[in-house]
This record gives sequence, C-alpha cells and structure tokens, in this order.
Amino acid sequence: MGGLVVKPRARIFHGHDWVYGTEVKKVFGDPQPGDVISLKDFKDRPLGSAIYNPASQIVARRFSRRKQALDADFFRRRLERAQAYREKIGMVQAPFVYRVVWSESDGLPGVVVDRYGDQWTFQTSTLGMDRCKNGLIEALIDLFQPAVIVERNEGAGRAAEGMEPVTHVHRGEPRREQLWFDGVALTADPAGGQKTGLYIDQLDNYRSVAACAEGRRVLDCFTNQGGFALHCAKAGASEVTGVDVSGPALEAARENAAAAGLTVSFEEHNAFDKLKHAQAAGEQYDLIVLDPPSFTRSRANLGEALRGYKEIHLRALKMLEPGGILASFSCSHHVDRATYMQMLIDASVDAKRGLRLRATLGQRADHPVIPGIPESDYLHGLIVEVIPAW
Ligand code: SAH
Repeated sequence: MGGLVVKPRARIFHGHDWVYGTEVKKVFGDPQPGDVISLKDFKDRPLGSAIYNPASQIVARRFSRRKQALDADFFRRRLERAQAYREKIGMVQAPFVYRVVWSESDGLPGVVVDRYGDQWTFQTSTLGMDRCKNGLIEALIDLFQPAVIVERNEGAGRAAEGMEPVTHVHRGEPRREQLWFDGVALTADPAGGQKTGLYIDQLDNYRSVAACAEGRRVLDCFTNQGGFALHCAKAGASEVTGVDVSGPALEAARENAAAAGLTVSFEEHNAFDKLKHAQAAGEQYDLIVLDPPSFTRSRANLGEALRGYKEIHLRALKMLEPGGILASFSCSHHVDRATYMQMLIDASVDAKRGLRLRATLGQRADHPVIPGIPESDYLHGLIVEVIPAW
C-alpha cells in the first residue's frame, strides 16, 4: 500500500484529518488518485488510513486511525455509529428529516447522507468514496431498507476532485413530498432538477426566529421555500414578506403556505434591490431575516463577500427602529464567527444603531462540529435587537 509521510507541524497533528499538498514530506509506493493510502509521520509512525487525490489541494483525508479498507462492512459500521448518534440527540423521530452522515464529522470524508422520511439521498464528493459507493449503498439497504435512494452528486466539490456531476436513482421511485415541522409544511424533492431546497441545517433555527415573531412585520430575505417566513407566520407575525430570486423556490414556498393555510406575500426579487427599494420607499419592518447563500467559494474573494454581507446588513439595520430584530446567518466556510460578528458591528456603526445580542445560533446538531476541524463549524447565526444608542 502506498502512502504519504506528513511534515511535522501539519494540521493532522492538531486534531484535523486533512493533509494539504503543502504538508507532504514524501510520497511512497505509487498511490493512484482515489486509492486508500497509509499516512506516516516523519519518524515512520503510522497515522492511519486516508483516501488520496493529488488533483485536490487536500491530497489526503484520513478516515481511520487504523489500517482499513473501504468495503460494505466498513460502511455498515460507520453508518451504525452515525445513526446511533442521531438517535441519541433526538433526531430520529417524525417527520424523520435529518442528516444521517456528515462527511468528516462521521468519519466518512466526502460522504453526505440525508433522510427525508422514507426517501434517502447521498453524495460522494471525494474520489476515494465515490469509487466505493456500491459498498455504501449496500450498507444503507442492509441497515435501513429505504424506499428510495437517490445519488445527488452535483456539488461544486466534485469538480475539484476531477469528477463529473451525476444524479441517479438507485432504488425506488422518488417523489416530491411535503413534510411537516411545527405545523409548517416544507417540500422535499429528492430527485428534483434543482437542489431539494430543504435546508436541514436551519430547521431548529426556524423555531428560534419564530419565537421572536409574534405581532411583528417580518421580512425574510433569501427565503427559498419559505422556511423562516412560514414559521414566523405560524407564530403569529402580523405580516410576512418572503423574497427570493428563484421562481421555482417561490413556487414551492407558495404551495407550502397554501398547505398550512398561512398567509405570506412571496416576492421574486434580488434581495439587494429589494432592501434598497424598501428602504427608499420607507417600508417598515420589525423583524428582518437575512440568510444569503455563501458569497464565497474561496478565501481569495473573502473581502468581496464581506462587502456583500455588510451592504445587506447595513440596509436591514437602517430599516429597523429600536426594539426591531435582525436574524442573520452566514453559511460560508471561509467566514469565521469573529469575522462575521465584526462585519455586523461595522454595519451597525454605519447605520447608527445600537445592538443587543439576543441569541447565537449554529447548524443543527445532526451536522456535528469537530473542534479540531474548523471547517466543520460553518453556519453562524445571530439574533440581535436594535437598541437606542446610550
Ligand atoms: N432561508 C432559506 C435558505 C436560503 S438559501 C431556508 O431556510 O430554507 C439561499 C437562497 O438565496 C436561495 O433560495 C437562492 O435562490 C437565494 N438567492 C441567491 N441570491 C439571491 C439574491 N441576490 N437575491 C435573492 N435571493 C437570492
């Protein structure tokens, strides 16, 4: 078996499971892209098994501290552990919508498995895992007998590993289905042309934001299929507007509203324009939600992304009077919590608004954070209240 000798002080000695190309001291044997390799430190001590792909910046991702092959038995053991954890944290209950496996956080780098009731989807965004996906599928069937299994391998990460996009139904007949959360319907579309649009990582945050919504005029920017907007309407908001640039997402949002008998005005706009025009027109809101897509795919355009974040925060804050609430989220892997908070502080200074932090939020617990892997802590949410400056 081929492998890598890792340089001293590499992140793998500090709790991480990745090896960057710049951290490789030596390649031994003749490992091929996608192979399982062994990792060693510079004193020849074994560090475990990893999947190898020299085409990626992250040339090796460790998945075990031991010698380990990627067979169906291995996937069965990893899936059992992952599912046991979701049971322990109370995710395995109606409507049975949760992330069953989340990549490095479950010892399966590049593998994501989501469950929407009896319909399951998976992604294998690393070459090593992609090659062994039959073992994964076999283990999924053995353990869980899902009615539907759909491969959703369209993610951007795939190109970085030199792979083509694939969408494939491996089992059953996928269907569009509304699932219910706290009296609100959201739509899962496991084989739909677009991403399902059901953002599992935000499900608990709907509840936290809705808890502030009673009697308020709510503006939900980047609403997608209405997650925040609908939960706020259900919680007794006096008026709710949801804005998104995607027509199909808004169509789903309107279906969801109709199914739950909720009234929300869904508008198709660029949220940047909406905020600008609403501010100019003197529209009034008491609760504004900002949940934009990741504005940055790489560290290189971080500055630009932060300017985009700041612009929408500044406009939103200017529309809020004392007592008004801003619920804001960043899902960019390259923006850490401190940077994000600083952006919000800068926006509040420019908007001449005092802020009080009401809550700090993150991704749902079925996307576990591994403290040694900072990239696993990616969803940052803040609920702040505007207060009069002292
Ligand atoms: N809040 C949603 C998830 C938002 S995902 C939820 O909880 O389900 C980001 C959304 O932003 C997507 O629906 C995408 O269509 C939308 N979007 C991207 N750029 C936009 C823009 N400039 N203006 C408005 N919406 C945009």
